[in-house]
Amino acid sequence: MIIGLTGKNGAGKGEVARYLADRSFAVASLSDVLREELGRRGLESSRENLIAVGNELRARYGPGVLAERILAGLSAGRHHVVDSIRNPGEVEALRQRSDFKLLCIRAPQSVRFQRAVERGRLGDGASLEEFARLEEEELDRGVPERQRLDRVEELADAVVENDGDLEQLHRRLEQLLRGWLTGFKRPGWDEYFMRIAQVVARRSNCVKRQVAAVIVRDRRIISTGYNGTPRGTRNCNEGGCPRCGSAAQAGTRLEECLCSHGEENAITQAAYHGISLKGATLYSTFAPCLLCTKMIINAGITEVIYNEDYPLNQNALGLLEEAGVAVRRFKLDGGVSI
Ligand SMILES: [Zn+2]
Ligand SMILES: [Zn+2]
Repeated sequence: MIIGLTGKNGAGKGEVARYLADRSFAVASLSDVLREELGRRGLESSRENLIAVGNELRARYGPGVLAERILAGLSAGRHHVVDSIRNPGEVEALRQRSDFKLLCIRAPQSVRFQRAVERGRLGDGASLEEFARLEEEELDRGVPERQRLDRVEELADAVVENDGDLEQLHRRLEQLLRGWLTGFKRPGWDEYFMRIAQVVARRSNCVKRQVAAVIVRDRRIISTGYNGTPRGTRNCNEGGCPRCGSAAQAGTRLEECLCSHGEENAITQAAYHGISLKGATLYSTFAPCLLCTKMIINAGITEVIYNEDYPLNQNALGLLEEAGVAVRRFKLDGGVSI
């Protein structure tokens, strides 16, 4: 998952980032993007340059540009924390990922003031009144930075109050993380195998249609196949199939087609390796044709699950039913492409 951190100065974002880093979260900061950009331009990472290049990128590519660039560099399958989110456009960009959560760290003004004093961030003789007056003034004057930060805080999925010691902060984070890290959604078995079948289909070399099948037993894949010309012959997309290569009308001259179907190839791949398909389930990106249906029945496959309807499949579906093979459609969201 990706956790974005927001909060006012002194709220404790740095402590939260450290806590998450200790728990194997990779820490990224939006300012890293700016440093990289400056590096590419051969400029030093001074505060002025960081602000200037940040404004320039946002003006040119939109308010979410830094977050979008961060997202592009995150590795899949591990947890990330993105520090210092200050712009609603950045939150919007990060929400493209369904596993993104925005966490707001909050602390009373007096506590934040104390922390700022301890860190030497304020000048000598600074008082809480002065600190409060400055924050108030920034709001009144409509300082865009401050207004955006307030807006970002409103978008948070959770707020952690950091008004005590570190131990208390860690306890609160632990409780929050327990819910977030275990609450993710996984694809069900049908979606899992059908999406794999879609990836297999992308290996197809047929110019007409890309189809694939995945054969499964005990929820384990035992064979896969995609459509195309037979092994050792010229690929369909390299002119290997005269019928596919000519603009033959749909459903005509099928007997001249040299391409094997995805289901056919999944069944013959199992034969190649000497694997029995008795009692197996076949997932296919399209409903099977009549020829493949006959092979499915005689191979002992007992269930067929397909994503898209194939125009000529009424006979095939009837035959499967007659042979006692369970058939159902499982339609993936978002059509055929992945
Ligand atoms: Zn073909
Ligand atoms: Zn077929």
